[in-house]
Amino acid sequence: MDDISRALFEKAGTCIPGGVNSPVRACRTVDSVPLFIAGAKGSRVTDVDGRDYVDFVLSWGPMILGHAEPSVVDAVCRAAARGTSFGAPCPDEVALAEELVSALPGVDMARMVNSGTEAAMSALRLARAVTGRDRLLKFIGCYHGHADPFLAAAGSGVATLSIPGTPGVPAAVTANTLLAPYNDLGAARACFERYGETIAAVIVEPVAANMGLVPPVPGFLEGLRELASQYGALLVFDEVITGFRVAYGGAQTRFAVDPDLTVLGKIVGGGLPVGVFGGKRCFMEHVAPQGPMYQAGTLSGNPLAMAAGLATLCMLKTMDYSALEDRVAAFARALGEILRAKGVPAQTPCIASLFGLFFSEREVRCFADAQLCDQKLFTCFYQQMRAQGIYLAPSAFETGMVSFAHSDEDFARALDAAGKVRF
Ligand SMILES: *Cc1c(COP(=O)(O)O)cnc(C)c1O
Repeated sequence: MDDISRALFEKAGTCIPGGVNSPVRACRTVDSVPLFIAGAKGSRVTDVDGRDYVDFVLSWGPMILGHAEPSVVDAVCRAAARGTSFGAPCPDEVALAEELVSALPGVDMARMVNSGTEAAMSALRLARAVTGRDRLLKFIGCYHGHADPFLAAAGSGVATLSIPGTPGVPAAVTANTLLAPYNDLGAARACFERYGETIAAVIVEPVAANMGLVPPVPGFLEGLRELASQYGALLVFDEVITGFRVAYGGAQTRFAVDPDLTVLGKIVGGGLPVGVFGGKRCFMEHVAPQGPMYQAGTLSGNPLAMAAGLATLCMLKTMDYSALEDRVAAFARALGEILRAKGVPAQTPCIASLFGLFFSEREVRCFADAQLCDQKLFTCFYQQMRAQGIYLAPSAFETGMVSFAHSDEDFARALDAAGKVRF
């Protein structure tokens, strides 16, 4: 059934660690091997064995217009024909920066980079440069890319000084990373009360989408805004997933909370490698060469990537986000009902074009809740859905992504497949 994928994966294992270029792709936690993708169009991906899948991964978020959207492909091809990299300014990077500034209330200026990781790392350096402080407050279960300071293990409880979550990260680096449970404003306040004078930044996914899907409880984001202002720390929204997804203007627009710095990626690159950090002018003016904080990149503002991002945003501006949200909500509700009718516990939270699936009796509000879900049930579900042509993220701690290209037939196919799963 997936013979060519299996053969490629075996070969890949000899020359790429674990056979993949990003760990979750290896599908280990769901006892499967990865599918190698030959091509994709709209809501569908096709693997090298010629099987067709409804795609709820969407390259982990960027492909909100669906795959190979003609206007994006055309913009990239035209840009490529003009040259793939100059290492000098190009017109599209100005146009894209202007669009970000007009779309996002928290962004007066933006700097292009090449990944979400690089953007988060640079935003933290900027917050430290601006405040002259070293500490960072992050939330357990939130992902901000793989730079050292963000790779702190989940300590328990309030104001835990964290230890590295992987070999290779010096304890001295994560010693400056404070951890609090997501959605726990009291724990965040306790961190500020104890360490407030030394905290440069509090960084948060305004809708957590890397521990499964966990929307913010009312008052959480607003409370972080108040705490940061009170203690002179910068509030950093990591909108790598939420930007141009939970609303065109991101979570900061949807929840009307104004961050000091914003981290972007995924959708803004239209499927090419792009990250962005932006923010209030008074902070961004510290970035070199306007200010003293060094940050640079050979391929930053790459003309192909800028063209893809610009074409994506240009089309997204005309799309009906609330209609998609309604369709996704109906789908998530139906999925939850189908699963619960089989006697398995299931939570299917959703917001905008994101949906989650926790095999759990109770509502999930933080990472500790998420960890209580039944991973065996997820593995069982994942494997049988994939066998029926439904491509889900291969982990119980990921989020389902929907694009504007998903049709009612795609949703119906997924629900029909879910109805046939045996636990
Ligand atoms: C994907 C992601 C990142 C990292 O982006 P990369 O482009 O993979 O480096 C950072 N933050 C969030 C919220 C993400 O989902």
